Amino acid sequence: MADLVLDGLTKSFGETEVVHGIDLSVAENEFVVLVGPSGCGKSTTLRMVAGLEAITGGELRIGGRRVNERSPGERDVAMVFQNYALYPHLTVAQNIAFGLRRKRLPRAERNAAVQEIARLLQIEPLLDRRPRALSGGQRQRVAMGRAIIRDPQVFLFDEPLSNLDARLRVQMRLEIKRLHAAKPVTTLYVTHDQTEAMTMADRVVVMNAGRIEQVGPPLEIYRNPRTRFVAEFIGAPA
Ligand code: ADP
Ligand code: MG
Repeated sequence: MADLVLDGLTKSFGETEVVHGIDLSVAENEFVVLVGPSGCGKSTTLRMVAGLEAITGGELRIGGRRVNERSPGERDVAMVFQNYALYPHLTVAQNIAFGLRRKRLPRAERNAAVQEIARLLQIEPLLDRRPRALSGGQRQRVAMGRAIIRDPQVFLFDEPLSNLDARLRVQMRLEIKRLHAAKPVTTLYVTHDQTEAMTMADRVVVMNAGRIEQVGPPLEIYRNPRTRFVAEFIGAPA
């Protein structure tokens, strides 16, 4: 059964429509990557799913229930951003535990959860540090920890690796996939990087100018691009 359904999802800013009716079903624990050039509407689409941007048309369903009108906190989604958005005055452990603030857990249980996530992300030695004492890759791991500790039904990523250097970016792709294998969550991942999309996705969604051009497994998209845009963007022969 589809866990996350975008049914004709549309967004207008004032008079200008920028997302023109996106239809997409993401299966439980599937890793779907939304890829397309800058300005095509990826972030706007993701932000509508997160509840950070009002939906102006269509319906959004999570676990079969319409959630259009729910606030971000009521949707059971967690989002990881490009700029990490960590709290500088909190330690790594406190930043991760922040993800649990809505769940009123006893301290011991909360600490155990933070330890488990830190182990999963291999950042246990960093728990007492502040964000400024971390590298970019370490900060991104903490941001993922804060999101995944909530055990969300849907995990959203918006260009999480674009602030990292090329070598670290390749390493973090593998880390995110390893995390997904260890703790599977229904995932919608946004990037403008074709290689990232093709190497990470169960299914790739190619977006252009507010519309979906093609959806499919990476190899199928590579071999059978349906439009010239897809062929040129993915870099496969048309
Ligand atoms: P992407 O993430 O694919 O780069 P965005 O979703 O950020 O694209 O933007 C899609 C389009 O919507 C762009 O033309 C952008 O200028 C426009 N847009 C995004 N946010 C706003 C906003 N708050 N107000 C007006 N236009 C916006
Ligand atoms: Mg964007």
